[in-house]
Amino acid sequence: MKKIPKDFYNPNEQEWICRCKICNSNLLEGNTPFALEKAIKVFPEIKAKEVIFEIAICDNCASESRKSLSKQSLTDIETFMTGDQVRENMMKCVEESYENGGDTFGYCIITGVPKEFINEFQIIAQCQSGFLLPGTEAFMISSQGIEIIQDLLSPETKEELDRFKNEHFGIPPEFENILNPGDLVFL
Ligand SMILES: [Zn+2]
Repeated sequence: MKKIPKDFYNPNEQEWICRCKICNSNLLEGNTPFALEKAIKVFPEIKAKEVIFEIAICDNCASESRKSLSKQSLTDIETFMTGDQVRENMMKCVEESYENGGDTFGYCIITGVPKEFINEFQIIAQCQSGFLLPGTEAFMISSQGIEIIQDLLSPETKEELDRFKNEHFGIPPEFENILNPGDLVFL
């Protein structure tokens, strides 16, 4: 089993977020799979990084939340995420990871753009206990890729995600234009 990549760790606490954002259950205990998502902005001029938000959501809460999203949006996203373009980009990331010590964040899985050209992105992973869910890998999605996913969403679904974001996040206002409602990949 593969460990959760260090990129998800909080630099001060040396730990990833291990409580579900919605039900607050401890994700280190038990076997409920969960998703980790972390949005990062890079400032290349000053070689700095800022974490815009990070979140863990257990499978139970995610499937509960999904019920309020339109079936059409969910089908459209699934079709897109399992399509050739995304699959090829994922394979490229995995192939390269064999040569760079296991880093699967080399390219945006939606656009295929290499990470050195990306300043705003999210890393995502499906996990279980302290490991990646067997058979899955952690991946990166650029802000451009997130826009492409958002275009697949119906207005009702966008509204619902908006509501979710307001309920569970306080995103700093300076980032509101960078990360829009609906940026959460796993809902
Ligand atoms: Zn939960």
